[in-house]
Parts: sequence; structure tokens; C-alpha cells
Amino acid sequence: MRHQQIPQDESFTEWLAGFRSWAGKCPDDEDAWRRAASQGLLSLAAPEAPGGANAGYESACLALEAFADESGLSGLPFAMAAQMWACQEPLLEFGTKDQQDRYLNPLMAGGAVGAFAATEYDSGSDLLSLRTHADRHSDGRWRLNGAKTFVTNGPAADVFLILARTADGSAISGLTAFLVPRDTPGLHIGNVIDKAGLAGAQLASLHLDNCVVADTELLGSTGGGFAVLMHAMRYERAFILAPTLGLMARALREAIEHVQSRNQFGQPLAAYDTIRQRLVRMHLSLTSAREVLYATARQADGSSLNHGRSSLTKLHVSTEFNRFCQELPDLYGGYALLPETGAIALLADAVASRYYSGTSDMQMKIIAEGLGL
Ligand SMILES: Cc1cc2nc3c(=O)[nH]c(=O)nc-3n(C[C@H](O)[C@H](O)[C@H](O)COP(=O)(O)OP(=O)(O)OC[C@H]3O[C@@H](n4cnc5c(N)ncnc54)[C@H](O)[C@@H]3O)c2cc1C
Repeated sequence: MRHQQIPQDESFTEWLAGFRSWAGKCPDDEDAWRRAASQGLLSLAAPEAPGGANAGYESACLALEAFADESGLSGLPFAMAAQMWACQEPLLEFGTKDQQDRYLNPLMAGGAVGAFAATEYDSGSDLLSLRTHADRHSDGRWRLNGAKTFVTNGPAADVFLILARTADGSAISGLTAFLVPRDTPGLHIGNVIDKAGLAGAQLASLHLDNCVVADTELLGSTGGGFAVLMHAMRYERAFILAPTLGLMARALREAIEHVQSRNQFGQPLAAYDTIRQRLVRMHLSLTSAREVLYATARQADGSSLNHGRSSLTKLHVSTEFNRFCQELPDLYGGYALLPETGAIALLADAVASRYYSGTSDMQMKIIAEGLGL
């Protein structure tokens, strides 16, 4: 594991202020990903050697939070974070120099988009039962067959990190990770999946039909796919929810403005205890979610990040995000149903946060195991 010791220095603070100001004006268009990447967002956490800024995980999370807060975008920061944690981190840990040159550098610079494809229709929480398989032929190349679904960034991705079965029996040694470029013969990318929430993040299914992959595209070793999966999940579970802190901060500010400016019974809504208490509970949810996530980021920067801590972070932040979003519509009454308040869209994001990177039930299971249960 990569250990980093990165204090928040002056140059990062300056960069973050500039990034905030850029994000506040970021137009929500097709070029937004590339422009956010050219600001340096995707390379913050990576060490210098493969072209990163070596600013650490806390800095990267602060930037993701700021991006969502200032822009009000939810799907784009989520999709970029998915690439950072589930594609770039495994490439940093397991990638050869050649793989880092070909894939990691363009991903960090915004010249390419990455997607992580593990989930299958019959293998969601029970991921280790996945059936996509890869067979090595006499020419030394692999043939991948199967189907993946819920692949974030799937519609636009230039490279897919695909988990496939290379041996029967134990999942621990039976899975292998492959880097599959978009134009690989036999890789078919489905249409954008229609979904609620996370507007701007696009998901697709994949079909692998005798998809031919060279031996040089294995990430890690044959049978090393479980380690790649665990590495990706350790970072994704810890930090995928960083943008939601910004979304909550923004929603809280807007809700406070609303209750201060709307009068009922001759007084602003903010004068009523039920309204004030709702806002205090939302503030508490945001504060405690933020404390836990950044404490985890500092742990990752300082020494290590273990699975139990990652799952605890994902569970806690998503739970507080859901609590927050349960309260939010009631501050607006009927106006919550109008898209401009964003209350229902945020609620849909909160619901999604209970499922991606492993459901809350699965995080509980991991935490319980860590307690020796
Ligand atoms: C927005 C979004 C983005 C995603 N992006 C990606 C991606 O980029 N790449 C990728 O590979 N996957 C991705 N996923 C898939 C995600 O990882 C799965 O949705 C998740 O693992 C849950 O699987 P499932 O949806 O099949 O639910 P299921 O496994 O069918 O679970 C349904 C319900 O049953 C519960 N359950 C299941 N088993 C148990 C059990 N043993 N004990 C108790 N309760 C149980 C679950 O907790 C859940 O509440 C994404 C999902 C979403 C929503």
C-alpha cells in the first residue's frame, strides 16, 4: 500500500480557492469532465512519479466536496470519483509502468475516461459468484465472455477494468482483473441505463463476446483479481461520498435562505421550532458525516486504510446523507416537488448511496466481521 504524509500546505489552499471559484462557474455541459480534469482534480491523490500532485486523499476529498458544493452538480463529481477510486487507485497499486503510461496518465489528465466493471445481473451483493469468464488460448491471449451491468462511466469510457473468472473454485484465487480498451473486438457497450438520481453520471451494461485481450492487459497477476477488487473497494467505500458533503452544504444554505424568506402565519418559517430543529438535525448529519470522512482520509494519508474503516465511513456518510435528505423536503412543503429546490433529486441520490460500492447491509456485514462477530 502507498503511504503518504501530506500536510495541507499553502499551495494546496491556494489551489483549492482557485478551484472553488472555477467550479462555481463550471457550465454543466459535455466538456465539463475534461475541464475539471485539466484543473488537476483527478491527479490530486496520486504520487508524483506517475504524474500526480501528491496532495493526498484529504486534499482530493476537499476538492470533490468543493466541486459539488460550488457547481451544484451531483452526477459528474460522483462519476469522476468513481474513476479516481476504482480505476486509478488499482492502476497505481498494481499497474506496470507501461500500463500506467498507457492508461493512468490519460485518466488523470482527463484525456481518457475509465470504468470499473464487476457487477453482473445475478451477482450484485454476491459479487464473488460472478460468471464472466476469461480463458487463455494457445496464442497467449485471453477470450472474455459474459455480461456486466451498472457500469458507471460505461457509455463514455475509453478503458474498462473488468473482473472475470479465470478458475473455478475459490473466488479468492479464481478471479483476474483485465484492462480492456473500448475498441477491443468483442466488447459491446449497451445504451445509457435510465435511472433516478445522480443526474449526469451515466451507467451502461457491457456484453463480452469472445472479447480478445492480450496478456499484457492483466492488472496484477492471474488469479489476483480479488486483491484488485478489494483495493478498489477500500478506496471507493472510504471516499466515494466526498461530493455528497458539498451537496449537503449547498442544500443546507439554500434551505436556510428559504425558511428565512418565506412567511406563514405572519412570521418567517425560520421562527418555528419544528423548522429550526429540522435544520439543526441536518447540520448535525452533515457535520458528523464530514468528521468521519476526513478522519478516514487523514488515516489513509498518514498510515493505512483498512476495510473496516472504509465500510464504516461509507455506512455512516450514506446514513447521514439519507437522514439529511429525509428532512429537506419538509422545509419546502409542496415546493419540494418543484425541480428548482433539488430536494427530491437529492433524495434519489441519497437512496443510491445506500447501494453503490456495496449496500449498507454489506457494509454492516464487513464491520460486524471486523468486530469478531
Ligand atoms: C449508481 C450506481 C452505480 C454503480 N456503479 C457500479 C460500477 O461502476 N461498477 C460495478 O461493478 N457496479 C456498480 N454498481 C452496482 C452496485 O455495486 C450494486 O448495485 C450493489 O453491489 C448491490 O447489488 P444489487 O444492486 O444487485 O443488489 P442485491 O444484491 O440484489 O441486493 C438487494 C437487497 O438485498 C440485500 N441483501 C443481499 N444479500 C444479502 C445478505 N446476504 N444479507 C442481507 N441482505 C442482503 C441488499 O443489501 C439489498 O438491500 C452501481 C450501482 C449503483 C446504484
